[in-house]
Amino acid sequence: MAALFTNVSIFDGTPAPARLGQVLIEGESIVRVAYAPETIDAPHARLIDGQGATLMPGMVEAHAHLTWASSVEKIYHAFILPPQELEIAATRNARVLLDHGFTSAYSAGALGDGIEVRLAAAIEAGQTPGPRLIPSTLERSPEGAEGVETGDVFNGRGPEAMRAFMAYCAAQGVRSVKLVISGEDALKPGSHGDILYTAEEMAAAHAAAQEHGLWIAAHAYTDEAVDLALIAGARIIYHASYISAATIAKLAAKRHVLFYGPGCGVSVAALEASPPPHIDMGHMKASAAERMALEGKLVPALKAAGVRVLVGGDYGFPFNPNGRNARDLQHFVDYFGYTPVEALAAATSLGGELMGLKVGRIAQGYLADLLLVDGDPTDDVAILQDKDRLTAIVKGGVFYKAPAAAEVV
Ligand SMILES: [Zn+2]
Repeated sequence: MAALFTNVSIFDGTPAPARLGQVLIEGESIVRVAYAPETIDAPHARLIDGQGATLMPGMVEAHAHLTWASSVEKIYHAFILPPQELEIAATRNARVLLDHGFTSAYSAGALGDGIEVRLAAAIEAGQTPGPRLIPSTLERSPEGAEGVETGDVFNGRGPEAMRAFMAYCAAQGVRSVKLVISGEDALKPGSHGDILYTAEEMAAAHAAAQEHGLWIAAHAYTDEAVDLALIAGARIIYHASYISAATIAKLAAKRHVLFYGPGCGVSVAALEASPPPHIDMGHMKASAAERMALEGKLVPALKAAGVRVLVGGDYGFPFNPNGRNARDLQHFVDYFGYTPVEALAAATSLGGELMGLKVGRIAQGYLADLLLVDGDPTDDVAILQDKDRLTAIVKGGVFYKAPAAAEVV
């Protein structure tokens, strides 16, 4: 079926101002875009009069944790859930992200083995609603010493264990493997400088990823950790909060093949949280404050160096639930000096490049993943946090959320 959006202000995914125009979608794709005064003649198409609303690409969550159970609809205080409940939560969270305008999600790791592969297949088959999903596996952290047999494919040491793990992921249908290279202060205070892998393990990961056609996402905070992520050939590096100017230059040199995501949503939410007295978030808040101060300089430097910086902020904690993901855009404006259109581009066209799909732009030949927004997000990205402002949500040419009756002519 074809649909013609008319009387819409088009934000095309690039950091350029929105312009009045028309967009024709047919099948799963965008087939024509016309800017005023040019018009599209498509008498066969269903006409949707946006009445001045903004038409923009669906957003991309570049650091998704659908198995981090909490969402705006249901908060879980336990981090680890029984397998069945975890699967239910992940399925719900996929729908919650789509409800909030995220038509694509790149997983940054899961809490259950196999869940995301099943979920991505179910979404693809139209059995359950959700964003296009690059599925991941359990976040891998090695344990013990090399050669110590743990009997667990997820935490063995040494290059051979790494190769076995990558083969396991590929056979399962995982697309992106998450490697936790640095420790995490939020879980273990003072551990961000810890290094959990060797260069040999990372080289093995790189070779195996190439052999199996897998991508690698790396959790890395320091120069040494980012160096290891580069040895692994990581497609996306998260956090990197503590890196030096020399490492920024290394990332800049690789800017055409890698992406970076600060993951600031969880930090801002930790700073804002006022937990009940029995929950101590003291060191989490201290770590978040330290990282935000560092990233306030780091992110603008990486952006200036041409590195593709993406939104996505570790949503899924009770204090930072799935569904709040669009807050990241406002954080980019507030903390990193982004203009609204730059933040929107990070969430659309740049995220689309991470997905490796023709998504994130309104241009001929791209997939019709679109949002019709009541208002002007190129002036105020905060309006994207209100799902009621998304009057239509389209994924692959299918109206997941239909426009208001008044808009269908
Ligand atoms: Zn994460």
